[in-house]
This record gives sequence, structure tokens and C-alpha cells, in this order.
Amino acid sequence: KGAITETAVAFAPEMDAEITYRHMLEMALRDAIAGGAIDVFYQPLVDVSGKRVLGVEALARWTDATLGPISPDIFIPLAEETGLIQSIGEHVLDRAIRDAKAWSGISVAVNVSASQIHHGDVVEVVRQALEASQFPAERLEIEITESVLLADEKRANEQMRGLQALGVKVALDDFGTGYSSLQYLRRFGFDKLKIDRSFLDGAGEPPESSVILASIIRLGQDLDLTIVAEGVETREQQRWLQAAGCDQLQGYLFSRPLPVAQMTEFIASRQIA
Ligand code: C2E
Ligand code: CA
Ligand code: CA
Ligand code: CA
Repeated sequence: KGAITETAVAFAPEMDAEITYRHMLEMALRDAIAGGAIDVFYQPLVDVSGKRVLGVEALARWTDATLGPISPDIFIPLAEETGLIQSIGEHVLDRAIRDAKAWSGISVAVNVSASQIHHGDVVEVVRQALEASQFPAERLEIEITESVLLADEKRANEQMRGLQALGVKVALDDFGTGYSSLQYLRRFGFDKLKIDRSFLDGAGEPPESSVILASIIRLGQDLDLTIVAEGVETREQQRWLQAAGCDQLQGYLFSRPLPVAQMTEFIASRQIA
């Protein structure tokens, strides 16, 4: 009995500190959203030769004046838990299609969280954003992860069809990290498959370690999907993915995520080359 009391006392300050930090972060995130301090960076998706920019992925960025830069892996889950993801999502979408308007012929991909699909009307949000900016729907892609499909399949399917009816493409992100990815691929009509970067460890290595990656690519080809490899960091990986039949590559080898002005320069430099 005494031990339990001691444990409870010993843990209390730590938990307090954690709750306080979380609360502070949430308040700071609210301020950042209200003050327009959530930025959008862009990372190129290139063809397998690495020479042509085919698209960009919009990635949210937040640097707090006192806390410094906060990783999306921290603030996106926090935004999902607090409902703030709805306004971040709309902000990123608006910003991205306005910025991408100048990049003719290049598509722009925006990440959408499960909670946006299940607690909001993403189809309506996207429809209005496209209308307001006069951005061609064919150049917009929405990236969702398997978690979207897990919660409520019917809702997920409706929203996905709704987006595709607008002319928007839908990509399955982080492919291979979930539990039922293969089933979902068959059941939902995705346009694009983004293979999670954890599979890339095998690319360029001895054949045994690239067997899974090769079969994922073949499966994607059989289903007529555009296949993207994310997290490409080496020439060996690029060469291997090119030979294996990948359609698009994304990763630090080509570029880190960049602010809009630098992305514009990057696209211009690649189009001349
Ligand atoms: P994600 O959608 O899988 O985005 C790709 C992540 O991989 C990005 O991290 C990107 O910077 C990183 N990355 C790209 N190339 C490489 C590489 O060669 N090596 C390595 N190690 N990493 C690479 P980031 O920007 O930190 O974003 C993390 C996650 O946060 C994203 O993963 C996405 O799930 C989420 N996220 C970011 N922005 C948004 C947003 O606007 N809305 C939503 N719902 N989620 C977002
Ligand atoms: Ca993504
Ligand atoms: Ca991903
Ligand atoms: Ca991810």
C-alpha cells in the first residue's frame, strides 16, 4: 500500500509538467494559427531521372518565437487531438494552391488527416478552395494514410469518391506501414501509391532485401497506380527504383522541403536543364 502511495507522489510532478507543457504548446499553436504563423514548405516529386519536377508536396511548418521550430510530428498529432487540424488543413490547402498556381503543369499534394475526413467535409472544403483560387482540380492531389480508412470505411469511401468526382487525385501515403494496406489497395480506388521510406533500406542492397519493395512496385503497376518512392537519399536507391519501374521519386537526394520562393527557383532551374 505504502509503495503505491509513494509511486503516485513520485510521478505526480512529472505528469503535471507534461500536462502543463502540452497545454502551453496547444495555446502557442492556437496563437500561431490565429496569427498566420503556420508556414507551408514544398518538396519536389521528380521523375526517375531526377531531372524533371512533376509535382510538389506541401508540408506544414511552425517556428514559435520562444520555443523555436516545432516538428510536424509533434504539432500535427496535437492539432488532430484538439480539432485545430481543421483550420491548419484549410490554411495549408489555400496557401498551397495559391502558391502552386504559378508553377504551370506541376501538381501539388496536400496531406489530409483522418480527423479532417471524419469530422469535417473535406470535399466541400476542397471544392470551395478550388473555386476561390480557380486552380485546376487535375493538378491537386490529396494524400491520406490508412488510418483514414480504418475509422469509418463508408465515410472514407464517400469522401474519396467526392474528391475524385471534382477531378482531384487521391494518394495512399506511407504505404506498407499499416496492417491491412494490401486489402485497402484493392477495395479503394486510389490514383497513387506512396511507398513508405522504411522500405527504401532495401533499395540498392543485395537482392534479398529488395524483394518486398520490388513486389510492392509490381503490385502498384498491376493496379495501374502512379508509384512514388519517398525518402530517396542516395544515387544507388535512385538507380534501383528507376530499374524497378517506379514513376516518381521524392527525397533529400533531390531537395529538402523549401519555402515557396526557393521552390520557384528550384523549378525554374530544372526546367532549363
Ligand atoms: P509525410 O506526409 O510522410 O511527409 C514526408 C516527410 O518525410 C516530411 O516530414 C519530409 O520532410 C520527410 N522527408 C522527405 N524526404 C526525406 C528523406 O529523404 N529522408 C528523410 N529522413 N525524410 C524525408 P515532415 O515535413 O517533418 O512531416 C512529417 C509528417 O507530418 C508528414 O509525413 C505528415 O504526415 C505530417 N504533415 C506535415 N504537414 C502536414 C499538413 O499540412 N497536414 C497534415 N494533415 N499532416 C501534415
Ligand atoms: Ca504525405
Ligand atoms: Ca509519407
Ligand atoms: Ca508520414
